[in-house]
Amino acid sequence: MVRKAVIAGNWKMNKTVSEAVELISDLKSLIADVIDVEIVVAPPFLAIYRVAQEAKGFNIHVSAQDLFWEEEGAYTGAVSPKMLSDVGCEYVIIGHSERRQYFGETDETVNKKIQSSLQHGLIPIFCVGETLQHREAGETFSIIEAQVRRGLSGLSPSDMEDVIIAYEPVWAIGTGRTATGEQAEEIHSFIRKLLKEIYKDTADSIRILYGGSVKPDNIDGLMAKPNIDGALVGGASLKADDFARIVKYQR
Ligand code: PEP
Repeated sequence: MVRKAVIAGNWKMNKTVSEAVELISDLKSLIADVIDVEIVVAPPFLAIYRVAQEAKGFNIHVSAQDLFWEEEGAYTGAVSPKMLSDVGCEYVIIGHSERRQYFGETDETVNKKIQSSLQHGLIPIFCVGETLQHREAGETFSIIEAQVRRGLSGLSPSDMEDVIIAYEPVWAIGTGRTATGEQAEEIHSFIRKLLKEIYKDTADSIRILYGGSVKPDNIDGLMAKPNIDGALVGGASLKADDFARIVKYQR
């Protein structure tokens, strides 16, 4: 099964609108010749509209970093899937560990957000990952299994055709400490096995990205692993040159 690689950049709470436009402009010229990778950038909400306009006609798709599951109504401060689609957003990161850690995201809210994004035609990039404490306590597999099962609860095999999973060990995010290719592959193949158990043959077509201090100098080794189908990149996605090099990983 050939799975098209996805390289997604999570800009987090960085870049004003004008800075975001500058970054996407630089990126456009650097990746103009890339056609075999799905390139995604996730600017902050306020920059999504302008970045999507700039990216039109290029192989760059735009993602949000979160959403709320309702379509509209009295939910002060929230942004809905309908609003995101309206401004050219096609993907949404859901359940990032920073949302879980600082904003009270749970497996249940993650599940509602995934269901809602699918109903509105947005592709969810669903994040899972263990903390250092979990890993040291030997709980990595049980934590990942619980996050996957609860986060995807109620989804059918055909729903899963539009879901991207990102494995992001929390201890590797923004720390400069990357999981080795072997460590990442061990978890990716575990997730794939779990998906096979739940969704049978559809599991082979689901992309599983790795995230956690992905840089130009470690992407090639990670992408060489059979169950690593791409990367979710934080810090290195803020520099056009670095992100472009990651997109152009060694094939
Ligand atoms: C992320 O934000 O998803 C991430 C993996 O960050 P970083 O690449 O900076 O570790």
